[in-house]
Amino acid sequence: MFAAPVNSRVLSFEDARRVVEEQAALIRSRKVSPGDTELVDLLSAAGRVLCEPVTADRDLPPFPRSTRDGYAVRSADLSQLPARLDVIGEIKAGEKLDRIPARINAGQTASIMTGAPVPAGADAVVMVEYSSPPHSQAGHQIEITQSVVAGENIVACGAEARAGVRLLDCGIRLNAAAVALAASVGKSRLQVYKRPRVAVLTTGDEIVDVDATPGPTQIRNSNSYSLAAQIRREGGEALLLPVAPDELQALRRLIEEGLKADLLLITGGVSMGRYDLVEQALAELHAEFFFTGARIQPGRPVVFGKCGAGFIAHEKSATCFFGLPGNPVSTMVTFELFARPVLQALAGESARNLIFLHARLKKDIRVKTGLKRFLPAILSGEFEHSEVELVAWQGSGDIAASARANCYLVVPADRERIPAGEWVAVMQR
Ligand code: AMP
Ligand code: MG
Repeated sequence: MFAAPVNSRVLSFEDARRVVEEQAALIRSRKVSPGDTELVDLLSAAGRVLCEPVTADRDLPPFPRSTRDGYAVRSADLSQLPARLDVIGEIKAGEKLDRIPARINAGQTASIMTGAPVPAGADAVVMVEYSSPPHSQAGHQIEITQSVVAGENIVACGAEARAGVRLLDCGIRLNAAAVALAASVGKSRLQVYKRPRVAVLTTGDEIVDVDATPGPTQIRNSNSYSLAAQIRREGGEALLLPVAPDELQALRRLIEEGLKADLLLITGGVSMGRYDLVEQALAELHAEFFFTGARIQPGRPVVFGKCGAGFIAHEKSATCFFGLPGNPVSTMVTFELFARPVLQALAGESARNLIFLHARLKKDIRVKTGLKRFLPAILSGEFEHSEVELVAWQGSGDIAASARANCYLVVPADRERIPAGEWVAVMQR
């Protein structure tokens, strides 16, 4: 077998993101087959990606709903204040239809509770705070001291959604509000996408597993575990392959194994060292490389491509792979920036932008220009008092510094110095 030379293709951060988004869009355009989805109970649906539309089974709200405890009135009756009205009934939430006054006529009112249906004739609810005595029974009179406009404190029938209207689209990741909405329209089970399977292949002769006792020059595998945590957070299932040695044949065999998954993440072995063999192994498998580096720090040697069509002996389209640089912080950052959008697409999720917060820089930053930087930092304070400062670190191998950080501070590629006090972009993690 020959080792096809890999042409270097180093892109700006923005161009690399565009390439990733293009591939994510291709993945999203694939046809969904029934085997790609499953039915889950609403209680375990949070975090999953919806693959059926959810529609309103009836008008929301299904009746004109009072939003206050008070009195259902005809607003025109309150043109002169105080107004005295006859109380003709009491309507609590869930009241049976035959116990609700058929109509509120001029000069009449009914006491009403939050969530109860407003009877015909009434066009507003006066809060109980503006009545005296506050809790009058049917057969008594009540004095109202505040006027209301028509519609006040009432949500009209169907104002939130009409029956049959689509409330949730395919491709959304279900959060608490979406789950609540599904419950409100009677969906106790939801059709969601199956979790994509992501193979994780760590490389390096120096790497031993977490339970092994490392020799004096060996280190424990931490990247597989950070990646597994990141994969799970995006709704994927991580499949950890055995650690690959820095040896071409064994590496190639494990890459082939990993390409059977929906996505392959390789860590380490993509730099310029003599034993960085990942690109060569992939080239031998006739991989297509979209880029072999991005002008970022940490994570410059990141590799993205596709492999498998016509070569790997299993029935599926080519699998996307990432070669993530082995330094632990580089692995984590490049996952966030590049692998995550592809994983989200494989999970069935609609495109999502990277979200940056803004915070005031606590201390000056000086860096060399040319690379967009995502540096471990600590974000503190709230609202307009948000502040951020870099953590002291020993470079992208410093896992301890990374664990002290709670965000990445983003330094644009053209900035050499950012003075304290400037608002800077911060990426949460
Ligand atoms: P590489 O990208 O293979 O040149 O590795 C860069 C650095 O990251 C080296 O110091 C490696 O020992 C370290 N490294 C590589 N893989 C891992 C891993 N799975 N866990 C922790 N450190 C790693
Ligand atoms: Mg290595």
